[in-house]
Amino acid sequence: MQRISILGATGSIGQSTLNVAALHRESIEIYALGAGSNVDALYQLCCQWQPHYAAMANIDAAHQLEQQLKAIGSRTQVLAGESGMAEIASLPEVDSVMAAIVGAAGLVPTMAAVNAGKRVLLANKEALVMSGELFIRAAEKSGAQIVPVDSEHNAIFQCLPVQAQQQIGACDLDAAGISHILLTGSGGPFRQRPLETFAAITPAEAIAHPNWSMGPKISVDSATMMNKGLEYIEARWLFNTRPEQLKVVIHPQSVIHSMVQYQDGSVLAQLGQPSMQTPIAYALSYPHRMASGVAPLDFTQVGTLSFEAPDFARYPCLSLAIEACHQGQVATTTLNAANEEAVAAFLSGRIDFDQIAAVNAQVLTTLPQASADDLESLMAVDTMARTLAQVEIGKRLR
Ligand code: NAD
Ligand code: MG
Repeated sequence: MQRISILGATGSIGQSTLNVAALHRESIEIYALGAGSNVDALYQLCCQWQPHYAAMANIDAAHQLEQQLKAIGSRTQVLAGESGMAEIASLPEVDSVMAAIVGAAGLVPTMAAVNAGKRVLLANKEALVMSGELFIRAAEKSGAQIVPVDSEHNAIFQCLPVQAQQQIGACDLDAAGISHILLTGSGGPFRQRPLETFAAITPAEAIAHPNWSMGPKISVDSATMMNKGLEYIEARWLFNTRPEQLKVVIHPQSVIHSMVQYQDGSVLAQLGQPSMQTPIAYALSYPHRMASGVAPLDFTQVGTLSFEAPDFARYPCLSLAIEACHQGQVATTTLNAANEEAVAAFLSGRIDFDQIAAVNAQVLTTLPQASADDLESLMAVDTMARTLAQVEIGKRLR
């Protein structure tokens, strides 16, 4: 029996994880569930799954949940705040932690799972983008096995030799005979939209991804391709790549989820339906395989697979992220924080779509002079970058 704790249980990845777990009740126990502030959604999940623990980041929400669960005589113990979230990430009874909180809020709880030596099923890319080297070193120290859930990184992981899979964060790609890691991305909903109409893009248009169903923040990131930029940084850390080894390829159909190119000319790709239940099932069962509930890919229905180079004028956020990745940890933490503020401002109608990149670029040029040696310094950089981003957002209000 594998006991798991799901951080971000009420979100898109959380729901997909529960969908997979529902197919394997004999081998997977939902031991703890965590969420931000949606009491009703977590209450429903607690009734359905009867976890030993539930945690809510919002303290008031946690109290409400506790009262509601008490009223029905539930056995679930409720924990509150970031420390409660970190606690369910490091419970001694738990084997695997699904890290699926959105954004920088996931850093502390995900790190708690890493430090506790858990198997960490990593969906929360922002945590790794923010803490990069610290995250990888912490996993080395505790012996935590990181299994990527992000579909591209999961695909790459599947295409790696076993030895490299066992050395996540420290693999030697040259020794494994690998020349390039090819990150694929669909290009999002605006791949062909005239650039001069970008300012008029609405939040509803931006979150309507052509192939994947995801939470609002990552959907906007997919539209700007900041998502691919964050994934570039994520891949740099997970697969220990040098800049020239990592490439982004636009593949609008999202059938290939990423590829590994070997020195002998071979290219290994992982293909499938665009459903997160496949990488989640793989991460839960690695090194074995189990059913995910996803329909088999029917090649007679797939049609054409096409590929193009990314156009950086269309996707300035992608080039900002690649630039930040080469600059280092303070830059990536800064960009991630600025982007979260800019995306939230766009989603609440405060700034136009094309201003997301403008805010990010401006904050990145006024990079805080800081160190990135420990979690506290990174959190300080994150806070400074958010303040700078709010100033830039203020100058661009609609
Ligand atoms: P979502 O918005 O659907 O869900 C986010 C979850 O995080 C919710 O359960 C919410 O309650 C929780 N949360 C928010 N703030 C919190 C806080 N302060 N403390 C604790 N929990 C908090 O997001 P999602 O689409 O499921 O994405 C989650 C993560 O997975 C993101 O980092 C995203 O980049 C990554 N990811 C998602 C997909 C996808 O298909 N959705 C694919 C790849 C990677
Ligand atoms: Mg992805």
